[in-house]
Amino acid sequence: MTALSALFSSADILVVDDNPVNVELLMDLLEDEGYSTVEGMTDPLQVEARVHKKRPDLILLDIRMPRISGLELLELLTKQWGEQTPAVIVLTAQIDEATRHQALQLGAQDFLTKPFNHIEVLQRIHNTLQLQRLLSERMKKADLLESLVTERTRELKILSRQDPLTTLPNRHVILETITQLRSEEKELLTFFIALEGLDEMGRLHGYDIMDQALCALSVHVQQLTDLPIRLLGVWSTDKWVVLCESIVSDELAEQIALRLLGVIQAPLNVQQLSVHVRARIGVSGSSAERNAEQMVRMAAVALPAVDSQWQGYDQTLENSLWRKNQLSDALYAAIDNNELHLLYQPKVDVLTGAVRGVEALLRWDNPVFGRVSPAEFIPIAEANCFIVSLGKWVIQQALAAIVRWRAQQAVDDHFTVAVNVASAQLMEPDFAAWLIDTVQQAGLPTHALEVEVTESGLMQDIPLAMRQLHSLAAAGLGIAIDDFGTGYSSLAYLKNLPVSVIKIDRTFVSEMHTNAQDQRLTSTVIDMARHFQFSTVAEGVEEIEQFKLLKMMGCDLIQGFLFAPPLKENIMLQLVSTGFADTPAFTES
Ligand code: C2E
Ligand code: CA
Ligand code: CA
Repeated sequence: MTALSALFSSADILVVDDNPVNVELLMDLLEDEGYSTVEGMTDPLQVEARVHKKRPDLILLDIRMPRISGLELLELLTKQWGEQTPAVIVLTAQIDEATRHQALQLGAQDFLTKPFNHIEVLQRIHNTLQLQRLLSERMKKADLLESLVTERTRELKILSRQDPLTTLPNRHVILETITQLRSEEKELLTFFIALEGLDEMGRLHGYDIMDQALCALSVHVQQLTDLPIRLLGVWSTDKWVVLCESIVSDELAEQIALRLLGVIQAPLNVQQLSVHVRARIGVSGSSAERNAEQMVRMAAVALPAVDSQWQGYDQTLENSLWRKNQLSDALYAAIDNNELHLLYQPKVDVLTGAVRGVEALLRWDNPVFGRVSPAEFIPIAEANCFIVSLGKWVIQQALAAIVRWRAQQAVDDHFTVAVNVASAQLMEPDFAAWLIDTVQQAGLPTHALEVEVTESGLMQDIPLAMRQLHSLAAAGLGIAIDDFGTGYSSLAYLKNLPVSVIKIDRTFVSEMHTNAQDQRLTSTVIDMARHFQFSTVAEGVEEIEQFKLLKMMGCDLIQGFLFAPPLKENIMLQLVSTGFADTPAFTES
């Protein structure tokens, strides 16, 4: 074997010539060279069948043959095999241009001219086989690449349709499924599930535990096979959608929602840890005019605010969401557009009828929405944290007002103005320092200002709230607990806070003269407050009977429509100058 043939010794070579002498000659030559798989054929009509049975690497093909010429055979093979046609070297005595050209056109790789020069024959065969090998390697690579691309495309297609963590169908599939079911006129209930407590779980136990909990949860929901669940999908990590093919009825919606809540909120065992997820569920039913996206959105709109609850969609929810959104936008511009002002409600001394101070209450008059109640816009401002700037504005206005009143000598040195301080304000770490500084900058004694905070406002971060209140109290500001009796209502914990005033909520006061229990509660609160040396303000006093009872119980100040609603500055100042000693509440008792 020579170096030439060593690489290709196992190449399958087919020699086709109607002259057996030529076939014999070439086969001997090739076998002597070391080629081990050489076959000779003198009948060109058998070539096709042979190629079919086993495709050779190379055919040495005579041109001039009876019944079918080499060129015709070549044409036939090319037609049948296309790119897979074996390499062909044409054997010819004819060397005219036309034949060569035709052979090349039909795909022949090379020519060998009779009579054969052995060295040339071997070299050309070697070259052709080498070229062939290169080509086939390239083709294999191309095939491999193509199959890789196909596989990857298939994977991407799956990925683009599923949540990577739980492998549940994603948003795309959820919408597609709704559209599909709706086109089949199926009735659908869509459950939009907000999973709560996941971040906490991640922070506490690690995000790995959180991921495993989500996967376990997806399995548990999928096991609810008695429910008509058509699809459980992931809208976003902690928002899931369940589609149920069922008639749209409140009873069914409730049944399914409660089952879902039960399963989702049950304790989960993850790596020997017992963890649990909370959930809220909004539900919408299908209707002809809603498309898939709208159905999911309606269910999302219906999400209740409180965990472990469900709520069905109804148009008023959507309307209130819109109103909230529009109010929120309008509120941002309210300060700059001069739409806000303060009213002042007197706090009247039970014994003398003197106005000891006022509570500043915010009012908003918008050109589009008219007068918007603080009960509506304050929660909106609290939800988007705009309350912090709004609260600062209120404080600045209130301080400017006291400065004015003191300058006019309309109020004495003990007169206080109370402002409502929202939880978000108290949670600003530098709130106390800013407030003390602002009061002093205004040239006012700190006792002129009182802050009203609610118990729930303190509960968000008790240590921080404590620090702030202690700084404020140490600087001399008054601190009132607002709406007392509606929150956590523990006088015991209040004794650890530097509180100076308890404001008894209107709900107790309003029922007091008809409800014995409210009366007992109010009197207990006043007693205990006195014990801790807090002063007491009763809110929402509207009736003389309420006033008389409160006076008897030892309440210090009264704030309510009985004496005055929240008032404009000038009217309020007039009442400060006259006091209420001449009103029936005092003259009749
Ligand atoms: P609040 O702090 O409990 O204020 C007392 C509310 O009771 C006021 O409602 C007042 O008008 C009302 N009121 C007073 N006396 C009576 C009465 O005899 N009968 C009845 N039925 N109601 C009475 P308003 O002004 O609508 O304020 C509602 C709430 O909005 C306030 O409740 C307070 O929580 C909040 N708010 C008002 N202004 C501000 C503010 O500047 N900042 C913050 N953070 N909240 C504010
Ligand atoms: Ca208040
Ligand atoms: Ca109050």
